[in-house]
Amino acid sequence: MSTPAEPATALNISDVVSGPIPPRVTNAAWPNMLHTRIHDVVEKMGPPPWSVRLIQDERNLVTLIANPPGSGNRPHWHKDFDEWWVILAGRLQWELTGGVVIEATRDELIWVPRGTVHHIKNIGDDLSLRMAIAMPPAVHYFHPCEQCGYTDDGPRAFW
Ligand SMILES: [Zn+2]
Repeated sequence: MSTPAEPATALNISDVVSGPIPPRVTNAAWPNMLHTRIHDVVEKMGPPPWSVRLIQDERNLVTLIANPPGSGNRPHWHKDFDEWWVILAGRLQWELTGGVVIEATRDELIWVPRGTVHHIKNIGDDLSLRMAIAMPPAVHYFHPCEQCGYTDDGPRAFW
């Protein structure tokens, strides 16, 4: 018996507007504030590790993630979207499926296509900050890191 193919991910946008309007959302806190200062987020969140959702709608999940030196994420991959990050502080390393290792620092972008396990670590001596851009529901498929063997089989995360 073969495994049935998974259905393609459908994007269903039911909340549409009919014309130009002033901003209809004026949140005083994240997500979806009109104006966010990264400095304010860092100050409010305090010592790392932490992550905070800054923007969230049917197409966008933007999360600011802080790690102290030596810490990182749980290696995982995504089925139906490519993920990318803007590095705002620190020095980070991406270990990817296939033996690829990338280091990045402030003002750099990393883009990882769907299907590739990404294990991200702060390899610097200071706080790292990265802005992650994903697409909802951003299902995480956890998987051991091919490079370093790190594994964490905790509950599946949706973020
Ligand atoms: Zn990811």
